[in-house]
Parts: sequence; C-alpha cells; structure tokens
Amino acid sequence: MFELPQRASEVRDQVHDFFQRRILPNHGLWCEQAAAGQAAPEIERSLRAEAKALGLWNMALPRLADDEPGLKLSNLEFTAVAEILGRLEWASRVFNCHAPDVPNMELLQLFATPEQKQRWLTPLLEGEIGSAFAMTEPLVASSDPTNLATRIERDGDEFVINGRKWFASNASHANCELLVVVGVTDPNAAKSKRQSLILVPRNTPGVEMMRDLPVFDHLSHTNTHPEFTLTNVRVPVANLLGEQGAGFAIGQARLGPARLHHCMRAIGECEVLISLMVLRSQERSTFGKRIDEYSSTQAAISHSRIELDQCRLIVQQAAFLLDTVGNKAARKQISMIKVAVANSYQNIADRAIQLFGARGVTNDTPASRAFAKARAFRIYDGPDEVHLQTIARLEAAEQDLTTTAYYLANA
Ligand SMILES: Cc1cc2nc3c(=O)[nH]c(=O)nc-3n(C[C@H](O)[C@H](O)[C@H](O)COP(=O)(O)OP(=O)(O)OC[C@H]3O[C@@H](n4cnc5c(N)ncnc54)[C@H](O)[C@@H]3O)c2cc1C
Repeated sequence: MFELPQRASEVRDQVHDFFQRRILPNHGLWCEQAAAGQAAPEIERSLRAEAKALGLWNMALPRLADDEPGLKLSNLEFTAVAEILGRLEWASRVFNCHAPDVPNMELLQLFATPEQKQRWLTPLLEGEIGSAFAMTEPLVASSDPTNLATRIERDGDEFVINGRKWFASNASHANCELLVVVGVTDPNAAKSKRQSLILVPRNTPGVEMMRDLPVFDHLSHTNTHPEFTLTNVRVPVANLLGEQGAGFAIGQARLGPARLHHCMRAIGECEVLISLMVLRSQERSTFGKRIDEYSSTQAAISHSRIELDQCRLIVQQAAFLLDTVGNKAARKQISMIKVAVANSYQNIADRAIQLFGARGVTNDTPASRAFAKARAFRIYDGPDEVHLQTIARLEAAEQDLTTTAYYLANA
C-alpha cells in the first residue's frame, strides 16, 4: 500500500478525531439549522472556532505564508485529510478548507497585489468572509471559456462590467463578499488573451442576484448556485487581478487544485457509501438469503472497492505531481482523475441506491444526494468530454511512435 508522509497521517488522525467527536454527532443539529434557513448554521460557526483554535485550519493551501493562519499541508498530505472532510457536505467549511474559497484564496496568493491581499485574502484566510468564482454564463457554451460574453471595459480610472453569470457557487450565500468575475477586456485580441479576471465586491451597485438554481431539485441555503446580472458595475482599475488579458491562463491555474480537492472529497464520500452498502446488505434478506450472499451484491461492493482504490492511487499521483512539477505539467493527470473519480462516484452512488431499494431514492440515506452530486460533478470543473479531449491530445503528444511501427511490421 502507498504510504503517505508521516505528517499527513498525524494530521489525518487529529482531523478524524475531531470529525468523530464534534462534527458527526452534530450533523442532525446542522441539518435542522440549515433547513430552518441558516446559511451558516450556528453549530458550524461554533465548530469553526474550535477547529481554528486547535490549528486545524486552512489545510488545503500549500502556499500559506509563515505569518498566515493555518496548517500548511502539501497537496499529497492533504489527500488523507480531504477524504475525512468529504464524508459530510459541510465538514470542509469547519476547517476553512471548502470550495470555492480555497481555490479563490490560492488565486489571490498567486496573483493579487499587496493591497488586494490585505482587502480580500486576509479576511478569507481568517474565515470572516466568503467568495465566489463567476465564469459560467447561461447564454454561451462555457466549457470553452473563449466563448464568454461578459464585457469589462475601461472608463478612466474604473472598469465597467456588463454580463450575466450563473452557477457561481456561493455568490448568493449570506457570507459572500467577493465575486471573482471573468470577462472580456479585449474582444480583438487572440482568443486566449481576450479575458481578464476582476475583483467585484458583491454589494457593488449593479450586481443583481436573480435566483438560486436547484441541482436535481435540491435547493440549498448553505451551498448556493445563483444566476445574477452585472449591469454597469463599476470598480476601480486596481481591482483587476493579474495582468489584463491573462484571465484564461490565471483561470487554468485555479482549476488544478480545485479539481483535485473535489476528487479527494468525493473519495471520502464514496467510502461512506461502500460502508452503507455492506451494512444494508447484511441487514436484509430476500428469498431465504441475506442480500450480501447474492453474487450481484458481492460484485456491486467489489467493483466499488476496486474503482475507489484505483481512483485514490491516481489522485495521490496527481497530488504528488502538482506538488513537484506544478499545475501545467500535471494537467493530464488532473483531467484523468476528474473523469475517473466523477464516473466512479456516480457508479458507486448508483449501486448504493439499488441496494437500498425504494429507500435509496428517498432522502433517508445519503445515496440519492450523492448520486445527484456525482452527476453534476461530471459537468462542473469541466465536462467529461472536454477532459477526455485533453487527455487524448496530451497522450498523443507524449507518445514516442518511432519504434511503434516495428510491432506492426513484425506482428
Ligand atoms: C453544481 C455546479 C456548480 C458549479 N459551480 C460553478 C462555479 O462556482 N463557477 C462557475 O463559473 N461555474 C460553475 N459551474 C458551471 C460549470 O463549470 C459549467 O456548467 C461547465 O463548465 C460546462 O459549461 P456549460 O454548462 O456552459 O456547458 P456547455 O459548454 O454548453 O457544454 C454542454 C455539453 O456539450 C458537450 N461538449 C462540450 N464540449 C465538448 C467537447 N469538446 N467534446 C464533446 N462534447 C462537448 C458536453 O456534453 C457538455 O456537457 C457549476 C456547475 C454545476 C452543475
């Protein structure tokens, strides 16, 4: 078995202990408070304070500076921790390790000016505010970001922004104060140089939240996906993040770690689903046999275990590559894990639903939500097809075909 660095095991044990003692027993309370409309449930806020006091904070930011709060783990070290956080939807928030704030903090670490860092990064690191990343637009195929239509136009010392965004996760959450908006600054530049990123305070006049979008009929106050418009929104030119025209490249830098963390958390959730499958199949009998005695049940559980362990290994490999060679060089592995994990996650959730029978399609087990989340995961952070295109392109470029013809000639 692949051994993780010792420090990763130590931190994982601490997080596991906190999860078992403080988070899991409070899940019922969290659900009650969330259902009552609390965007940041009271129990979540008090557990955040506890986790922060223990130093179990900002564990997903390998670039954390010495004077910034939190525990700096490498991506590989974080894989073990993220699996625990993935077991419940809100657990990552307790440790300030949740999307989209983590990838947004990473963006700010890499590209923000000292003033931008002070205004936005510091409160995000402290967990005082939330943020959103607004790229996708309802009116254009946004899996190809060169299609984006939102305009960012210079007018004296300001940029004026006009456009319509949707699925900007967290943008309508009560804590969200920062929108990182992607838009076109120069429509006549080369395709990859047209876009820029701009920091927009959420309360800027002209930003109008229209509606929160359901994901398979599920509307959440704690994890929102709004549609909103930007109409003549004015921000100072100093709010540009990074170079003008570098939005495409900067956005790519954000996506590697974001995808990796989603995959790690999904693996943790799949562990819960496999465990539920085992439990359920031992508890019920049909036609004189316990359900776990049927070969179809054994195959469902075994295939889930095989797929999940394969996923874990390539996720660890991708994390190691991100740590050692960087986002760009690791992009094939990042696309590989995105496709592999999203599909295995969906398969495992589907098998869990089947084993629970009618109960599987209700909300009485985590399986139906997991299935919906997995299905969405095959689209967000890039649809399957786009990643498969990337993998095939890079695979072809990496192949050394000089001796390959030999195998045909001498077959
Ligand atoms: C739950 C959830 C959360 C999200 N969070 C965010 C967020 O925080 N911020 C944000 O900006 N966006 C977010 N998104 C949006 C998401 O990133 C986009 O939906 C995604 O990039 C696809 O863009 P699109 O919906 O415009 O689909 P399109 O670009 O219209 O693509 C539709 C389909 O066309 C096909 N297709 C596209 N390209 C190819 C290709 N090269 N080869 C073959 N087939 C292809 C695929 O089947 C694809 O699914 C979220 C989405 C969901 C569901």
